[in-house]
Amino acid sequence: MAKDGLLIRINGLVQGVGFRPHVWHIAHGCDLTGEVLNDGEGVLIRAFGNTSQLEEFCQCLQRGCPPLARIDHMETSPLPVEEFDDFNIVQSDHSTIKTNIVPDAAMCPECRAEIIDPTNRRYRYPFTNCTHCGPRLSIIKGLPYDRAQTTMAAFKMCPECQKEYEDPADRRFHAQPNACATCGPKVWLEDKNKQKYPASDVLKEAARLLKEGHILAIKGIGGFHLACDACNQEAVSTLRQRKKRPAKPLALMAKDLEQITHFAIFNVREEKALTSSAAPIVLLPAKEKHTLAPSVAPDQKTLGFMLPYTPLHYLLMQELEAPLILTSANLSHEPQVIHNQEAQGKLAHIADFFVMHDRDIENRLDDCVVRDNGQTLHVMRRARGMAPAPIAVPDGFNRDLQVLAMGAELKNTFCLAKDGQLIVSQHMGDQENVLAHQDFRKNIDLYSALHEFTPDVIACDLHPDFLPTKWGQQLAADHDVPIEGVQHHHAHIAAVMGEYGLPKDHPPVLGIVLDGLGLSEDGDIWGGEFLRADYTIGTRLAHIPAIPLLGGEQAMRQPWRNLYAHLVDAIGWDQVNTSYADLPVIQKLTGKNLRLCEQMLEKKLNVPPASSAGRLFDAVAAALDICFDQISYEGEAAILLEQLAEQTSLSCGPYNQTYLTDWSPLWAGLLEDLHKNVDPCLIARKFHKTLASVISQQVNRLSAKHEFDTIALCGGVFQNRLLIKETRAYLEKEGYTLLLPQKFPANDGAISLGQALIACARS
Ligand code: ZN
Ligand code: ZN
Ligand code: FE
Repeated sequence: MAKDGLLIRINGLVQGVGFRPHVWHIAHGCDLTGEVLNDGEGVLIRAFGNTSQLEEFCQCLQRGCPPLARIDHMETSPLPVEEFDDFNIVQSDHSTIKTNIVPDAAMCPECRAEIIDPTNRRYRYPFTNCTHCGPRLSIIKGLPYDRAQTTMAAFKMCPECQKEYEDPADRRFHAQPNACATCGPKVWLEDKNKQKYPASDVLKEAARLLKEGHILAIKGIGGFHLACDACNQEAVSTLRQRKKRPAKPLALMAKDLEQITHFAIFNVREEKALTSSAAPIVLLPAKEKHTLAPSVAPDQKTLGFMLPYTPLHYLLMQELEAPLILTSANLSHEPQVIHNQEAQGKLAHIADFFVMHDRDIENRLDDCVVRDNGQTLHVMRRARGMAPAPIAVPDGFNRDLQVLAMGAELKNTFCLAKDGQLIVSQHMGDQENVLAHQDFRKNIDLYSALHEFTPDVIACDLHPDFLPTKWGQQLAADHDVPIEGVQHHHAHIAAVMGEYGLPKDHPPVLGIVLDGLGLSEDGDIWGGEFLRADYTIGTRLAHIPAIPLLGGEQAMRQPWRNLYAHLVDAIGWDQVNTSYADLPVIQKLTGKNLRLCEQMLEKKLNVPPASSAGRLFDAVAAALDICFDQISYEGEAAILLEQLAEQTSLSCGPYNQTYLTDWSPLWAGLLEDLHKNVDPCLIARKFHKTLASVISQQVNRLSAKHEFDTIALCGGVFQNRLLIKETRAYLEKEGYTLLLPQKFPANDGAISLGQALIACARS
């Protein structure tokens, strides 16, 4: 039969994920000759056979791909027939390859089957992996992505592993971290004095120690965790004391889905997330009654669960009856510990024992956090398992421009725009911390090297004191390239537009951004904004009332300050005193040094006005006497307030607040409710309804003057499930298209993405 030739070009996440062996298998199945190779643009296939064979081949390619691969685009064109004896995988010429770094991936079902099979040579081996799973970004040091450039370079493959590595028919063909018990990393147990602790089976012994109530430091894929028995109240409270972490909820690892059902409730979307290759922490509604220690998540109605994502975790969990606390091992405000020595030093006063291994962690990667908002899942922290998978630059943008966007100060990520891709880094966190900032600089260098990236323009936040902004200025000087300053809330909106792939010339959307704070172009503090925005310009159309931040920075940590400032603004302190002096919360407030506060307000000393939605939540939380004095982690007041509101099933309407000129109607209604002893849960609920209702009324007023049919809801406050639900109900009724962040966080973790798009659009 006559032979035809076909040239097939495939773009997407197709390198380093077992795509060529996948093609090789299909080609052999279809009896084709030819070759497959990686090149600078993706995967290229030359295939020869008769017409029906080639058709079948293309169909198979389109039907599915390896677990970690993603086909974005496939193109075929005819090719003159060439003589090949066979179908082969061609070694790539590294100089032409731009390898995308693939996220680390949870253990695949095939590897799991091997480690529990006593006849398999990888039986109980905690570092088993293959092309479909295992470490990636966490071990990579440089380009090209092969074993020599990873922390696996220290381990020489044994003949059996080498054979798998070289065999295109094998699941471990070119799996860079491939290893077995003979040649690969080893696990051991030691005590807090760095002494090896004898154990015939390390993970069985570790499980025994956990069951006895000890606290263990466990080295994972992207960092160390601290672990203890989650049902043992004494162990959990000891961990909290030693870690100096009084209230912030602790993450949990369960053996399997079945085990989670004893403690929390999950839907299909949440189940899918738990078992995905990213294996994130999923925030789930807790069951009414469960046997976890009360201090796992004090006052919380949600529990953060994840499933074992490495063979090490899996084998450990198999020995346990109860879920484990598995919280990032770090000193307060520092990033997660990743090195053995560092762990021995920093964690010696927290952990009783250490589960160590000798595969170095090159790049720190926290666990991802996701939550379901009733209709979709949304990512709250994007790190191990998700970063740095790129998204495509939307249509209309200059694909040749290389942009580096520095991100925000808190929940920092950075973003590279190159060759039509937007690559957002893993979450690195609060840049005020020296180690987090070191990570940030190191990772910019690494990503730049891996992507052969040199910036044409650098995008920064307008806040001059943000460390990423300062570093951006330094880099811009080094590279002699321009800086593009991007307003914080405009960046929030552009990030959502980019996530949804809105083209560059898309008409302006209305962005409603509710967050803690961000600087305006005039240096004002914003945080409750209505902007009409496209990718180039964001124009402020409205905002929530600007209330003094009593004591500047201090107002971020002490909710009562915001309560006082709000009451003074909305009602006046004399009036509050006259009508509500007997309210316990007002008495509590009177106990603070209000004389000083009054003077500060009078003399305008350290009381910058801020239209911050975050501080409004703080004030209302303080009024209901939840975290009145001090918050112990960012967003605590808002989280507790949402939870309080979710505790009542009684229906209620909003307070009588129509306009955003000031919050008087809200506070008058709220104080009156307190006076009448209304259930705080109901007050919290009314507050959420009020915010949603006043937002929608504002939208209606704006729509009379401006044209928009799409509304983006973003900023950290829009991680609040109840607020999303209420706002959605109002706005969808009016026929607007709502865009809510899903793949990237609503919080400042997505700022870099928005900055990159805006800088790209403006250049
Ligand atoms: Zn695997
Ligand atoms: Zn081996
Ligand atoms: Fe923000």
